[in-house]
Amino acid sequence: MSEKIRVRFAPSPTGPLHIGGARSALFNWLLARRFGGQMIVRIEDTDLERSSRESEENILASLRWLGLDWDEGIQVGGPNGPYRQTERLGIYKEYIDKLLAEGQAYHCYCSEEELEQEREVLLAKGELPRYLGKCRCLSGEEKARQEGEGRKPVVRFRVPDDRVITIPDLVRGDVSFESNGIGDYVIVKSDGIPTYNFAVVIDDATMDITHVIRGEEHLSNTPRQVLLYEALGLTAPKFAHVSLILGKDRSKMSKRHGSTAVEQYRSKGYLPEALINFLALLGWSPVGEEEFFTLEQLVEQFSLDRVARNPAVFDLDKLNWLNGHYIRQSPVEHITDLASPFLRQAGYLEGEIDGDKRRWLELVVKSVQEYPAYMEEIIQHVGIYFEDEIEFENEEAKGVLLQEPIPAVMEAFEAKLREVPDLTVEATQQLLKALTKELMLGGKLVYMPLRVALTGQTHGPELFYIIPILGKEKTMDRIKQTMGKLK
Ligand code: GLU
Repeated sequence: MSEKIRVRFAPSPTGPLHIGGARSALFNWLLARRFGGQMIVRIEDTDLERSSRESEENILASLRWLGLDWDEGIQVGGPNGPYRQTERLGIYKEYIDKLLAEGQAYHCYCSEEELEQEREVLLAKGELPRYLGKCRCLSGEEKARQEGEGRKPVVRFRVPDDRVITIPDLVRGDVSFESNGIGDYVIVKSDGIPTYNFAVVIDDATMDITHVIRGEEHLSNTPRQVLLYEALGLTAPKFAHVSLILGKDRSKMSKRHGSTAVEQYRSKGYLPEALINFLALLGWSPVGEEEFFTLEQLVEQFSLDRVARNPAVFDLDKLNWLNGHYIRQSPVEHITDLASPFLRQAGYLEGEIDGDKRRWLELVVKSVQEYPAYMEEIIQHVGIYFEDEIEFENEEAKGVLLQEPIPAVMEAFEAKLREVPDLTVEATQQLLKALTKELMLGGKLVYMPLRVALTGQTHGPELFYIIPILGKEKTMDRIKQTMGKLK
C-alpha cells in the first residue's frame, strides 16, 4: 500500500466500550501500525440524549487498557480538531449550506404523525418504508407558512433516483444497493444537529481518512454516506465491514452470552493481552495454526484479506483458555498486583503489603497461578491459606489420615520441620525428599496425608509451596487440629 493509511475509531459515547467496538478499534489500529499509518480516535456524540462524558471516558480508558493508542484525536489533539462532533457544528454547517444552495438537500416540515402514516401505508402495500419526498419542492410561501406555524424543519438529502450504488468492500467484495429503496434521509435534525450519516462523512473527508473498518451493522449506512461524498465532490474512503459477533447459539451476541463490555472483563481480572488475542481471532484468521499472538505479532501479520465474511462466534471458553495461558505466562509479580484487589475484597489482605509480606504473597499467588481462568477466580484457590478451621472435604480425605503409619509419619515430619533454619521452597523440597527416603514410604503415605492434614483436601497446590506459605507454626497447628479430628 503506497498511500499513507489513516484510519479512525469513532465510537458513540452511549455506553461502555463493547467487545464489537473494541474489535473494530483493534482492526483499525493494526492496519495503521502494520503499514506505518495513523490512527485517529474521535467521538460521535450527536445523539445528545444518549451520549455522556462518562461513557466517553469509559471507552477511552478501555482502549488504553487494551494497549491501543492513537496518534491524533480526542485527548491527544491534532490538526483536524475538534474531535467531538458536537464541537464541529460550524464545520458541518458549511457543507449543509452548500447542499441546500445547490438543491441537493431541502427543508422538510413533515410531522412525526405524517411520517408514521406514510410508513404504515407503505408497509401495508408491502413496500419498504421510506420518505417519499413530500417536501421536495415546497414553494417559498409554503415554507413560510409552515414556519409561521412554528414547525422546525429537518434537512433531508435528495437521493438521486434509479441509481445502483456499489461499494467495493474490502471484506465482503462488491455490495450493491438501489437508491430507490433509500428515500431522502435526514441529514440535520430539527434541533440543528446533523445526523450520524452526515457528520461521519464530513469527519472522514476532512480528516483524510483512507480506510473505514467498522461493524457489519453499518453496512446499510454506507450507500447513504457514499451518496453524500458524491454530492459534495469528496473522495470516499475504502470500506471494510467486519462481520457481526454471534453467541454460541448463533444469535447476535448479547449479555446472555457473557459480558459485552470490555470493562467487565477488566474488572473480573482478564488480562488485556488475552482479550486482544481473543478479539483478533474474532474475525481475523492467521496463516498458520498458531493461536497465541501478542500485539506486536499481530501488527506483523494482520491483513484485511484474512478477515472473514461470515460471522464470528464469541466463545467464552476460548477466552478463558487464552486468559489462563496469559496468567500462567506472566511474571508472578505482575499477577500478584492483579490478584491483590480480589484478595483484599475477600478479606484475605489488609494494610500495607511490602517486604517479607509481599514476598510471602507472591509465593501464595505462585502456588495457584496455574489455576484461575481470570483473576477473580483466584479466591477459590487460596482459601486453604487463610481459613483457620480445616474441614475434611469428604470421607475419603479423612480416610487418608486413618491409615496406620500416619501418626508416625506426622511425628517424623514435625521433627524435621523443627530443624529447618529457613523454611524456603527449596528447603521444603529437600525436607520432603529426605523424609520419604528415611521412612522408605512413597507419596501415598507421606505427601497425600500431609496435604490432607494441612488443607483437608486431596488436591491443590504443591506441598513445597503450602508448607512455607503456612510457616512452621501454622503447619504444626494444622496437623494437630486435623489429626485431632480423627478421634
Ligand atoms: N459511531 C458509530 C458506532 O459507535 C461508528 C460509526 C462508524 O464507524 O462509522 O457504532
